[in-house]
Amino acid sequence: MSNYDKYEAVIGLEVHAQLLTQSKLFCGDSAAFGAAPNTHISEITLAYPGTLPKLNKEAATLAIRLGLACNCRIERKNYFARKNYFYPDLPKGYQVSQHTTPICVGGHVGIQTATGERNIILNRIHIEEDAGKSIHDADENYTCVDYNRAGVPLVEIVTEPDMHNADEAYAYITELRKLVRYLDVCDGNMEEGSLRCDANVSIRLKGEKNLGIKVEVKNLNSIRNVKKAIEYEIKRMIDIVESGGTIIQQTRSFDAATDTTFAMRDKEEANDYRYFADPDLPPFIITEAEINSIRNAMPALPNALKEKYKTQYGLTEYDASVITDDKETITYYEAIIKECNHYKAAANWLLGPVKSYCNDKGITAAAFPLSAKALASLIQLVEDGQCSFSVASSRLLQAMLETGKTDALAVATTLNLLQNSDGDAIAAWVDEVINNMPDKVAEYRKGKKGLIGLFMGEVKKISKGKADPKMTTQLLTEKLNEKN
Ligand code: ADP
Ligand code: MG
Repeated sequence: MSNYDKYEAVIGLEVHAQLLTQSKLFCGDSAAFGAAPNTHISEITLAYPGTLPKLNKEAATLAIRLGLACNCRIERKNYFARKNYFYPDLPKGYQVSQHTTPICVGGHVGIQTATGERNIILNRIHIEEDAGKSIHDADENYTCVDYNRAGVPLVEIVTEPDMHNADEAYAYITELRKLVRYLDVCDGNMEEGSLRCDANVSIRLKGEKNLGIKVEVKNLNSIRNVKKAIEYEIKRMIDIVESGGTIIQQTRSFDAATDTTFAMRDKEEANDYRYFADPDLPPFIITEAEINSIRNAMPALPNALKEKYKTQYGLTEYDASVITDDKETITYYEAIIKECNHYKAAANWLLGPVKSYCNDKGITAAAFPLSAKALASLIQLVEDGQCSFSVASSRLLQAMLETGKTDALAVATTLNLLQNSDGDAIAAWVDEVINNMPDKVAEYRKGKKGLIGLFMGEVKKISKGKADPKMTTQLLTEKLNEKN
């Protein structure tokens, strides 16, 4: 047993997600990213004396939506608390957060890793406001402050110390990001900072029940970096303990240039933020009716859809998971099967010709130029045996994409791509093939029955794929078995 195998890692993640509201948490300033600095800053954002904040209810709605999707208990009587500290990008001198009453309590997020499926237990999801942004490289002598982000609504999603390796953390954030995007709660963009993750990591000997001293790693701006930072930390901590050292509680930062972490500050003891209920903000009550109406407006969740696709539509695990991987593909798939109920064929088309077209063009399923209705008409044509899959997926699809025409039957008719089930025409092609290949026909008649495939291929070739395969087989077998 290597020294590393003696230890178990314990990981808890804190994720901040910027809510997709139009305006800020407590005033009408725009919450949009990317505007010129200090243009979304009313008196309320700047905390002028005498101004009063007022809750943006949409933020609570989005938080509840996420909480319901994670099976959390929704807190009915909510308070906002002031978390007091001084920072240049915090105009009020305190941050409004939820302290004793997070809006969502408990719950879990289901993940899948190489070792199987499991639920990662959540501690809570609470609402808070974001701070502004200090910009250190805009001026040679001064630090500049942009207050556009101050007061933008966030949720903080906090897990229990429930993960045990970097792969689980990777799977958890991937799943969480998929979920917030799917629910339109957050755009999930880690580079722009609308989804931010801090990783808490400790180690302990296997079998030990007590938690070890943790470090918190910040500045993780991609899912890959979360994984790399955790892997680095676990190894670093085990190496310290194995060489007789002691781990100290620290806040560390990830350096993406070297894939390592470095200490930012040692955490002596918990900061005293002097929390108290914000006297400017009354408690807000969430009613059963409000929770129900949010629940009823929610789309079916990707995991539930995946299960349905497998059990009711007969899709493979792989197909079902690729389709439910993002909202656009789900939406497109659902739209196709509304038009034609060939569930498996629709999945094959989506993951075959449609996906390869999108990959070639570097576009997502949402940007695929054919409407679901048009694609469904194509699928229907093939399923009805009016056009072969190979002709449909190459020539017919191509023609529809080029012309923008949406009725597969009409396009196939114009281009003469319909399969021929007219017996006379097929019989003529069959005769032609038999006449052209006397040697092979003789071999077949001596018992080499496998040659049927060759004849089929020839008929397909000279008919340009239009001969109905069923009728072709039937006529070919008849002719070949005729005694002459
Ligand atoms: P803090 O007060 O330092 O923010 P919290 O108790 O609020 O600590 O926990 C913050 C996050 O750290 C949570 O996700 C929690 O699961 C995780 N965590 C707490 N203790 C440990 C530990 N010993 N090892 C790993 N993660 C931990
Ligand atoms: Mg914390």
